[in-house]
Amino acid sequence: MDIKSNHNAPTLTDPTPINKPRLGLYDALLPYSSGAVFSPGLFLKVQWKKPGLHNWLDAMKSSSPTHQKLTKASVSGIDTSSNDVATVAYCNWLVKYPSALTSFEHIMKYANSKRIALFLDYDGTLSPIVDNPDLAFMSDAMRAVVKNVAKYIPTAIISGRSRDKVHEFVGLQELYYAGSHGMDIMSPGKEGEDGNLFQPASEFLAMINEVYKSLVETTKEIKGAKVENNKFCVSVHYRNVDEKSWQTVAQYVQNILKDYPRLRLTHGRKVLEVRPVLKWDKGKAVEFLLESLGLNNCDDVLPIYIGDDRTDEDAFKFLREGGGGFGILVSCAPKESSAFYSLRDPSEVHTFIIIFSKTFFQHLINVFRMIK
Ligand SMILES: [Mg+2]
Repeated sequence: MDIKSNHNAPTLTDPTPINKPRLGLYDALLPYSSGAVFSPGLFLKVQWKKPGLHNWLDAMKSSSPTHQKLTKASVSGIDTSSNDVATVAYCNWLVKYPSALTSFEHIMKYANSKRIALFLDYDGTLSPIVDNPDLAFMSDAMRAVVKNVAKYIPTAIISGRSRDKVHEFVGLQELYYAGSHGMDIMSPGKEGEDGNLFQPASEFLAMINEVYKSLVETTKEIKGAKVENNKFCVSVHYRNVDEKSWQTVAQYVQNILKDYPRLRLTHGRKVLEVRPVLKWDKGKAVEFLLESLGLNNCDDVLPIYIGDDRTDEDAFKFLREGGGGFGILVSCAPKESSAFYSLRDPSEVHTFIIIFSKTFFQHLINVFRMIK
């Protein structure tokens, strides 16, 4: 599929065959096993040099903008008469990244002739962002719509959290799960069944545990800092840390990372994430799952990815650059993205999945009647 956009008016057009090699994935991937071996081509070539602390601090601030919050009243009706600076900026941004709700007819017109695969981030997409990451529960209503859509469409949750944690939050057996930013992929199955599909970072498990313990120890004196072990990556949350202490957080993480040249740091929403230097991210996880589902290289497949974070951009980029689908960015504030559409918050994600399911199901009924 070719999605064309000059970022003024994105349009879905007729599919274009995907002829290019799929990044040599099959060469690089082996099923999970203890002592898994995989292509050295998966490793990023990183020349370790001590990053400037101010660069880290700048990145922490830029990845955690304190946007002026838009009120529901000002945005839901898109009150263009408002002179509120944030509202005007958001309305202008919507021209580049139209709402997937207001563009729904256009999306469905295109999707109706396709097989769909749905990929969903968790935090900030299915659940609200909360101060305590351990309490980021999704609502029963959201769980119900995800369960329903998964009856008709292959559905995967792709999260930076550990696979077990996000599986526990979502609580649906019928989904694919990719935890640790896609480094821990599991197929649907009954509880207790080994549904591991792929764990490209298995050799980093001991190292990640070691770094997790060091980070817990060194950051315990920083009020509000929370370190989370996501199995193949570690998150250092600074959402509840006074901004005056962000530099201390950065300094402590930097001090530990300099002893681990095979680990790297990425930035999320008020979180520093330490992960292996692998060429593996949420985009690669989407690519892997499409191949596993037999949905890659098919002109009649439309993958859709919904996410809110910087790490979701890898998946948006993959879909935009030949992955045959499109991304939907969840954001209530303007930001640059490789997504094509936007939704404001998890409540709009909920609405989108409901109407998408209903419309798609009706389409299936119509097709069935025509065949009959
Ligand atoms: Mg998220």
